[in-house]
Amino acid sequence: THFGFRTVPEEAKESLVKQVFGAVAPSYDLMNDVMSAGVHRLWKDHYIRTLAPGPDTTLLDVAGGTGDIAFRFLDYVKSQHGSMGGAKVTVVDINPAMLEVGKKRAVQLGHSDPERLSFMEGNAENLSQIADASVDAYTIAFGIRNCTHVDRVLAEAYRVLKPGGRLAVLEFSSVNNPLLAPLYEFYSFNVIPAMGDLVAGDRASYAYLVESIRKFPTQQAFRDMIVDAGFKVEGAGWEDLTFGVAAIHSGFKI
Ligand code: SAM
Repeated sequence: THFGFRTVPEEAKESLVKQVFGAVAPSYDLMNDVMSAGVHRLWKDHYIRTLAPGPDTTLLDVAGGTGDIAFRFLDYVKSQHGSMGGAKVTVVDINPAMLEVGKKRAVQLGHSDPERLSFMEGNAENLSQIADASVDAYTIAFGIRNCTHVDRVLAEAYRVLKPGGRLAVLEFSSVNNPLLAPLYEFYSFNVIPAMGDLVAGDRASYAYLVESIRKFPTQQAFRDMIVDAGFKVEGAGWEDLTFGVAAIHSGFKI
C-alpha cells in the first residue's frame, strides 16, 4: 500500500471521506487550481455545456461541495437564455464545512436568492429529503468516487429524476494514452501528495484523493453500472476529457 489508506474497511469509508473534506474545505478551491493547473475549470465549463440546461431546468447537484457546478449552471442559463427564468439548483453535500464555503462564495458571486440556489446537507446514497421524479437534471462532479456504494448513488439519481431527465457524472477516469499513462501515474503518486503538503499542509488527505481516483471503475465499467441502474445511454455513453484524465458519463431516465 502506498499510503496506508487502501485497507480502510467499507463502513469506515464514509467517515474517512467526511474527515478528508472537512480538512481540505478551506484550501479546496485553491488546490483544485494548483493540482490541475486550472484545467478543472475548463472541464466544468464543458460539463455544463454538455448538460445544456434550459431556462426552467431544475438541477440537483450532489456532492456539490463549494458550489462550482451550481454557479456555472446559473451563469450558463443566464448567458444562454437572457435571464435565469425558472432555473433552480439545490446543492447537496455530506460535509457541512464544504457547504459553508459554498454559501460564502454564493454571496460573493451574487447568487444569494434562496429560491434559486439552496444548500442541503445529505448523503448521495440516501437522498430522503428529495422527492421522487422531482428534478430535470442530476449532476455529481468529482464526488461519486468518494461514495461507498456507487450503485445506491445511481439508484437514488434515477429515483429523483423526472422521466426524460438527465444524469451527468463528471469524474476522474482512466488515462488511455500509453505515453501519458506513466507520467500521469508519477504525477498522481508523487507530485499531488507533495503539493498537498506544500499548499495545504495536508499530505494524507491528498494521498487519499489520488487513491480514490485509482480505484474508481474504468469508463466502460462505469457506463455498465449506469445502464444497470436503468438509464439509457447514447452512443458510447461517455466522453473522455484530456485523454481520460476525466470523463463525462450521461444517462437518461426514459
Ligand atoms: N462537486 C464539487 C466540485 O466539483 O468542485 C466538489 C467535489 S469534492 C472533490 C467531493 C465532494 O463530495 C466533497 O464536498 C465531499 O464532502 C462530497 N461527498 C463525499 N461523499 C459524499 C456522499 N456520500 N454524499 C454527498 N456528498 C459526498
